[in-house]
Amino acid sequence: ALTAGIVGLPNVGKSTLFNAITKAGAEMANYPFATIEPNVGMVEVPDARLARIQEIEPADKVVPTTFEFTDIAGIVKGASKGEGLGNKFLENIRQVNAIVHVVRAFDDDEITHVSGKVDPLDDIDTINTELILADLDAIDKRWAKVEKMAKSAKDKEAIAEFAVLEKLKPVLEEGKPARSIEWNEDEQKIVKGLFLLTSKPVLYVANVAEDDMADPEATPYYQQIAAFAEQDHAEIIGISARAEEAIAGMDPEDQAEFMEMQGISEPGLNRLIRTAYHLLDLRTFFTAGGKETRAWTFHAGMKAPQVAGVIHSDFERGFIRAETIAFDDLDQYGSVKAVREAGRRRSEGKEYLVKDGDIIEFLFNV
Ligand code: GDP
Repeated sequence: ALTAGIVGLPNVGKSTLFNAITKAGAEMANYPFATIEPNVGMVEVPDARLARIQEIEPADKVVPTTFEFTDIAGIVKGASKGEGLGNKFLENIRQVNAIVHVVRAFDDDEITHVSGKVDPLDDIDTINTELILADLDAIDKRWAKVEKMAKSAKDKEAIAEFAVLEKLKPVLEEGKPARSIEWNEDEQKIVKGLFLLTSKPVLYVANVAEDDMADPEATPYYQQIAAFAEQDHAEIIGISARAEEAIAGMDPEDQAEFMEMQGISEPGLNRLIRTAYHLLDLRTFFTAGGKETRAWTFHAGMKAPQVAGVIHSDFERGFIRAETIAFDDLDQYGSVKAVREAGRRRSEGKEYLVKDGDIIEFLFNV
């Protein structure tokens, strides 16, 4: 399964955020809480479309889709020099599919800051420098070998890879991430094979003070980080980890009351979950009309048979057709019958690229 890894300097609020995530996950109704690993938190993906489908086509239960956050603890500074724990820190980042980078964006004299002052951009730079150095190291390791294969042996693959290395090196040396380079499809495959850290998608989480939870975007710290995120080809979200931890621990009534008091319509955690989900290029399709109304996760770009395989490998093996309705059509026409009569129900084949929001009934051979 794809996972987003939470990183950040010590004392910025990572554990607090991760606690909020696991608390919210522990409340999940549909999954007998399977603790996978202590550093993995499973969350439900909030999706208002489920309730609407359930309203139109009631089923016994509603099952949201889920995905995982991984807490990457560890030493940051000097990590790229490969000393023990630092090495492990980078190795753990290598395992995740996207990076959720928590940045301290709150003042509090009681909470020590590792470098003595709150300076979000300086904090970000500390971590990013380690990631860039690790990538440069990886490139240097391949450089001589690939250059030789390209220049003396005229090996085609080596020539292509060397061209990629030559593009990467100056960009990284300038302090920019690999993801800031636009690649064509062939290059992209080569880059993937290099397993770089700075080619992973990044989401900065500005951890603002509780007082700013209703409008994190208005804080100067947030705005600083947002300006940087744009040039860093990264996304950003503002959240108060401490407030989210409190909200996640409340029962639903207290939650609603608290959010109303704060003037917010949903927990910030929901925004975080949705943003990370999209960062991972994940999409949702639905099944309905049986015992359950259910959301499932697929990867953008998957075709109908692969998507059928998300439910069960038999569905993929014996795939015949995908009877498909777009959520927006169901929402608009108000019933499956009306969608059919309007000729909006589609029978899709093997080459169909599934879209976010598709409600699908798979037909398959057993
Ligand atoms: P980590 O080292 O990055 O995991 O940081 P922690 O989650 O342990 O947080 C460090 C300290 O900062 C803890 O005492 C938290 O309660 C506190 N903290 C986290 N988020 C906030 C916040 O939004 N406001 C304030 N005032 N303190 C926070």
